[in-house]
Amino acid sequence: MTEMIFNQPLQQLITGHLDPELNWHSRCHPIKGYLPQYDTAPLFIKREDELNANAVGTKHRKYLSLLPNLQHSGIKQVILIGSAHSNNVFGLSQMLLSLGYQVTALVKAPGNRALTGNHLLLNMLLPPSQIVYLTHQEWPKVLQMAEAMSLKLNRQGIKTTVIPEGGYSEAVLPGILTLAGDIQKNSDQLNTQFEGIWTDSGTGVSAIGLLLGMRLLGITEPTVHITQIAGTPEEFHQRYRQFEKWMEKLQRSPLPKPAPKVRLLRPATAASYGSINKTLLKESWIIARETGLLMDPVYSVKHLYTVKCEMMLAQPIGPQLVLYNGGTLGMSGFQSQLASQESIV
Ligand SMILES: *Cc1c(COP(=O)(O)O)cnc(C)c1O
Repeated sequence: MTEMIFNQPLQQLITGHLDPELNWHSRCHPIKGYLPQYDTAPLFIKREDELNANAVGTKHRKYLSLLPNLQHSGIKQVILIGSAHSNNVFGLSQMLLSLGYQVTALVKAPGNRALTGNHLLLNMLLPPSQIVYLTHQEWPKVLQMAEAMSLKLNRQGIKTTVIPEGGYSEAVLPGILTLAGDIQKNSDQLNTQFEGIWTDSGTGVSAIGLLLGMRLLGITEPTVHITQIAGTPEEFHQRYRQFEKWMEKLQRSPLPKPAPKVRLLRPATAASYGSINKTLLKESWIIARETGLLMDPVYSVKHLYTVKCEMMLAQPIGPQLVLYNGGTLGMSGFQSQLASQESIV
């Protein structure tokens, strides 16, 4: 399936690192309603939510190369790190269990003891002995604890590895590079050159993959606008530099210098990570009615609302592509709030 997807430089670099059985292509279509419509700026949405029914799109692209990497390394046990509602812990657990790996999750104890959303589904996937809850105070040490656990298991002869929060690791690089090539494919099919691309970021890994892939393909004209759902601009740039190094290692040559312009945006409301408020709950309803898209409030609604505010402030010029990186499953933790439209922080 990976033949003839991408043009030469990208294709050669990543073929052989990707699981050929997994889907890498998502469609792109005009977005009707919700965002301000200008004649000079046709708007499109990329349906990363449709890549995988069980794991959100940005995470799925990471798994394209992470899973073959684990397989080639002969890993038997995987230690995952994340919040109780983490899309990565929940998405990757499913993939790993179905492939026969042992999975242990080191999870930040949630404020809310009730089992809902991803946290409920994670408990369905893993027995209590394989979910280790850490307190707020213990959390800064989570990576050290995971590494110690992994060392112990490796000494016992069980080949183990740790996947850091959000999948931040070198092994995801070939997978996240597929996004730029896939956007190029959408662009060819629609016969449209995008002049702005709007995405959201947590660890920044997916957005960085997009930027690096664009550089490799020589697509440097569109500005990439990134709603920073988590983290600071400094953290983003530090990770960008780290992935540039990993990229040079992967392709064994320096990276093309010309790069798309990056704009980091603060969320237009409920800026702190994980928080939602009445505005976002209301916008979730409006987006569903006006676009037909059921979006998760923590990432995707916050992102689309921020894009709307930005586009109202400054009229975009030329075709614009908005990425829907989340998925409807992400709503499941918010059913009662969505029903009552009551704010929580
Ligand atoms: C994880 C996630 C992101 C951000 O991905 P990063 O690679 O961590 O920046 C964006 N949207 C959704 C819905 C996610 O689950």
